[in-house]
Amino acid sequence: MSVRVRIAPSPTGDPHVGTAYIGLLNYCFAKHHGGQFVLRIEDTDQTRCTEASAQAIYASMKWLGLNYDEGPDVGGARGPYIQSERVKLGLYRKYADQLVAQGDAYYCFCTARELDGMKARQRAANEPIMYDRRHRGLPPAEAQARAAAGEPYVVRMKAPLEGEFVYRDRLRKQPVVKGWKEIDDQVLLKSDGWPTYHLAAVVDDHLMAITHVIRAEEWLNSLPKHIWLNEKLGFTPPEYVHVGLLRNADKSKISKRKNPTNLMWYKAQGFMPEALLNFLALLGHSHPDGKEKFGLEEMIAFFDLDRINVAGPVFDLAKLRHLQGQWFRELPPERMRAEVHRAVDARFDALLPLFKERMAFGGDFVWQAEPFYADSVSPHADDLVPKGLDKAQAKWLLEQVQQALKAYAAGENAVWDAPSLEAFIRTLITERSQPAADATPDQQAQAKLWQPKTLFMLLRVASTGKKESPPLFDTLAQIGALRVVERLGMAQQKLR
Ligand code: GLU
Repeated sequence: MSVRVRIAPSPTGDPHVGTAYIGLLNYCFAKHHGGQFVLRIEDTDQTRCTEASAQAIYASMKWLGLNYDEGPDVGGARGPYIQSERVKLGLYRKYADQLVAQGDAYYCFCTARELDGMKARQRAANEPIMYDRRHRGLPPAEAQARAAAGEPYVVRMKAPLEGEFVYRDRLRKQPVVKGWKEIDDQVLLKSDGWPTYHLAAVVDDHLMAITHVIRAEEWLNSLPKHIWLNEKLGFTPPEYVHVGLLRNADKSKISKRKNPTNLMWYKAQGFMPEALLNFLALLGHSHPDGKEKFGLEEMIAFFDLDRINVAGPVFDLAKLRHLQGQWFRELPPERMRAEVHRAVDARFDALLPLFKERMAFGGDFVWQAEPFYADSVSPHADDLVPKGLDKAQAKWLLEQVQQALKAYAAGENAVWDAPSLEAFIRTLITERSQPAADATPDQQAQAKLWQPKTLFMLLRVASTGKKESPPLFDTLAQIGALRVVERLGMAQQKLR
């Protein structure tokens, strides 16, 4: 049987670096075995999914060269590959009906209010939050009659009430063991007739003839439900393999608060797809000869599912930059030229208007634009201490504004452009410069430091390394959130 694997992202935002990581592992596994790699879009949560996000997933996979053999925009024999389109074909309903007919699932008529009441009671009694199975025992004829009379219902799985679920994931020494009584009667079909992720994923993995589901370990909790569904529906289950989640330096699940998670950010920053893939590959796997730099073809050749890293690999941007340098320096001259042009051109039109007042020759662009292209800047420590402040005060102010900008950039709908930044920083100054009624003398003194002139100078020097720059907010906007925050941090270190 030919190997068939898939990634099944939900298009709920920017294409995620975790999708690329799981995509790479699946891709290499498929290609190593001469099999197929499928992209499926899981958009059954229609309130959160968007078409734009799905398009960005296709574009990012193509940019990386993780070309799928079957998928929404490339077609294939087992499509459609978007779940919302499959819902419209009625593909899932019949499996839910089958489970109900077999007595393995049932109609639940609980209203949202009833469920909220149930949760509140469980919380108050310190009990686990789960559906209390109150409609599990309804006689089927009665349930059918209520549904036929138009009462809204969901379909829930009849999870076993006792015993243990045991699964051997080939990457884990210990088998996965879970008591069935901790497992909820999962909703399979919602009251609007749409499937939940669990039903849709299991049905699709079957209909798409997926042989191995290689995914992040955050799905381990769902595994009992998935295996149970396969069994009850009479499917041969795929082999489920759960790999470690990408992690921030503090070991928490990778998040955009601590790392850039948007794949398109890497592209915009000029990272080469080869470097990013190499980096992701090293997170999941190691080269059998200990080699650090290798490409996709080589990864396919040595890929071994049993050697995937299961302990959550830490995402280290410095390591990626190092690899990027290696890939870049070894580019053939033509490609290097093209890469330099691409990098300069990508930002040229946005930057040129910022400098035009300060230029006499075309070549002046080069030195004017230096802080905008550079990886880092080196401000002079003296320039980082505005008039009237001492070193410690300057450092404190830098730290405050760094934290505020970091939190701002991590906000769900944050816009990092000049007008938004100006509004944000001016409001910040207004707020912070007014000490609270019960402020200590120290706090009152700190509030006085929040002067526009002082702060603007600090931001300018810390983010460009220079005392003069184009208008500050345009400058910050063009340098970008991540670099500004990073440079504000570097500047604090200079003031130690
Ligand atoms: N739609 C799920 C996600 O967004 C896929 C999980 C799976 O691979 O089964 O990650």
